Amino acid sequence: MLSVKNLKVAYGGIQAVKGIDLEVGEGELVTLIGSNGAGKTTTMKALTGSLPLQSGEIEFVGQSITGRGAWDLVVQGLAMVPEGRGVFTRMTILENLQMGAYVVTGSSAKAQVADDIDKAFATFPRLEERKNQLAGTLSGGEQQMLAMARALMSRPKMLLLDEPSMGLSPIMVEKIFDVVREVRSQGVTVLLVEQNAKLALQIADRAYVMESGLITMSGQAKDLLHDPRVRAAYLGE
Ligand code: ATP
Repeated sequence: MLSVKNLKVAYGGIQAVKGIDLEVGEGELVTLIGSNGAGKTTTMKALTGSLPLQSGEIEFVGQSITGRGAWDLVVQGLAMVPEGRGVFTRMTILENLQMGAYVVTGSSAKAQVADDIDKAFATFPRLEERKNQLAGTLSGGEQQMLAMARALMSRPKMLLLDEPSMGLSPIMVEKIFDVVREVRSQGVTVLLVEQNAKLALQIADRAYVMESGLITMSGQAKDLLHDPRVRAAYLGE
């Protein structure tokens, strides 16, 4: 579904991503793990067109999306939940969800959006309880839920999640990861960028390890979970 070849990204003279290849197959849950500053967020931003590429080719469902902006990508079925969530803090939860459906058009749009809001509330009951509350008043975990629910309103084929566990309590992280699993079980392909390597490797099918702008290891997530190098570098063992 997503194919990235020889991706390079630089900030001025700083080479943050040094030529990486990455593949995500339809229906897969793939994780990109690595420590602070490895280049994970830069990779995500390059994939979604918010940073220019130095070089490389990105294909989504067989079509080049290199250089496309976020709007185009969402229309094509690639939605992103950025690091820090990016919810509209001065809008209500309901309004945030409606904003997520901005690409839904046509005569049945109204019914589809209403239906999808019901589904979002079924997945995230806590959001329904607070639907008329301003998003800025939500806790970090609730905002993460809202950001994911909002991204799902465009009915994406694929979801890119950047560090959903960041700043959350262990219980909330577990909840968010349960939702990631559920989203995948509903047929959405997922690329999950995470510093919480242990949990990410537990829920993913495959994984890539990024270090200093390069992919240094890749394979089945369960194999990497038991790999001594991964255990020493990322699982604190
Ligand atoms: P984190 O988990 O801390 O977000 P990361 O793996 O996502 O880490 P990036 O944020 O992609 O890493 O950063 C990769 C490298 O690029 C780092 O060396 C970082 O200092 C550098 N970098 C990131 N953003 C900028 C920027 N706007 N200008 C200059 N250098 C940057």
